[in-house]
Amino acid sequence: NGDTPDLVVVGAGLFGLTVAQQAAERAGARVHIIDVRDHIGGNAYSYMDEETGAEIHKYGAHLFHTSNRRVWDYVNRFTSFTGYVHRVYATHDGEVYPLPINLGTINQFFHAHYTPAEARQLIEQQAGELAGTDPANLNDKGIQLIGRPLYEAFIKNYTGKQWQTDPAELPASIIKRLPVRFTYDNRYFKDTWEGLPADGYTAWMERMIADPRITVSLGVDFFDESQPYNKKALRAAGVPIVYTGPIDRYFDYALGDLKWRTVDFKEVRYDEGDHFGCPVMNFSDADVPYTRAIEFKNFNPERRERQNPNRTVVWEEYSRFAGRDDEPYYPINTDADKALYARYAELAAAEHGVVFGGRLGTYQYYDMHQVIDTALKAYDDQVMPLLAHVA
Ligand code: FAD
Ligand code: UDP
Repeated sequence: NGDTPDLVVVGAGLFGLTVAQQAAERAGARVHIIDVRDHIGGNAYSYMDEETGAEIHKYGAHLFHTSNRRVWDYVNRFTSFTGYVHRVYATHDGEVYPLPINLGTINQFFHAHYTPAEARQLIEQQAGELAGTDPANLNDKGIQLIGRPLYEAFIKNYTGKQWQTDPAELPASIIKRLPVRFTYDNRYFKDTWEGLPADGYTAWMERMIADPRITVSLGVDFFDESQPYNKKALRAAGVPIVYTGPIDRYFDYALGDLKWRTVDFKEVRYDEGDHFGCPVMNFSDADVPYTRAIEFKNFNPERRERQNPNRTVVWEEYSRFAGRDDEPYYPINTDADKALYARYAELAAAEHGVVFGGRLGTYQYYDMHQVIDTALKAYDDQVMPLLAHVA
């Protein structure tokens, strides 16, 4: 049938867009993308704030970084990147410190002038009985990495605010992403390539689907049977599907709910050009109820002349458990969650003609470059075979 697309992609996030782009370009497939939101881009979507000239990342700050050559070459087909290098500061007990924890943080904290070797020795002492072990939970891993005083200052309360879960119950992997450095290097990421899309995230993602074989409908829910691209109708018609929504939702939560955290954003506007002097200020202590504040203007200093010199916009982030109707942002990933996901993944593997992908479809904490990498691989391994009949 000429009206039926060769492939339906559920979710216009980076996973769905990458697969759609590949299917159109490499198989000549006609791809239809649906998204329940009123815009493409998934969680990487951004928009321009008229008043300040800031590019607001609607679902929280997004910094692109990768060491993957294939991903870097791929994304550069659709956008160039600014020279932005991510750095984060933290307010603790009335002082501002550089993050991730580095020699500058350590010397400021202890009012000292330790050399790298001295600082290393001190941290080892403070890690006490956990030194040299390989702890599986965040609490012990944190103390082992940086010692108890720094852990209590910079990690304990922040993690408590962000996860509302006892750090002893959280996987150590969450904190392994935060390096500790015995130099003054406070670059947040250590990837080969890093930057922000020069003319914004949305322009980048629009270019990914500029191919006329790709069509999009927004405001369309896959599970709404009153619209034609619903699960029941597409499964009955045998149309290949790439599904990037929540995996438990696909199976009607038959085995129970996978647990997520969400973030509420509180917007604050200031009558000044620059409020923090940096794009991201973390608040390490329990008395500030939000985890961090994002001053979007400061992600794009190269746009200063187009930004309002007298006004700025800041988003404070409040983290909490997600219910079914909230945006799922961070998979909580306790052992119980992982076991439940494994059971859903078995159901997904038996769902022939449907490829599950992305953060929600595989219950994974993925950065953008990982989502693009897994989408390119999923295209090669799983989607291309479903399109073999496309002329
Ligand atoms: P998503 O972007 O979530 O897209 C899934 C899409 O599916 C959504 O648009 C959704 O509306 C749609 N959908 C779901 N259910 C349905 C349905 N029933 N019907 C129709 N459509 C549906 N990555 C980085 O690399 N750097 C960062 O700094 C960074 N910061 C982040 C900060 C936050 C707060 C969050 C939440 C994520 C961050 N990420 C970051 C991760 C990044 O957002 C993801 O890796 C990437 O956007 C995920 O793409 P995706 O396509 O898998 O999922
Ligand atoms: N973290 C912390 N203090 C900080 C920053 C991070 O304790 O100032 C911990 C916290 O548990 C967080 C994890 O390190 O969940 C990863 O931090 P990152 O900034 O990478 O998280 P994201 O940007 O994904 O929220």
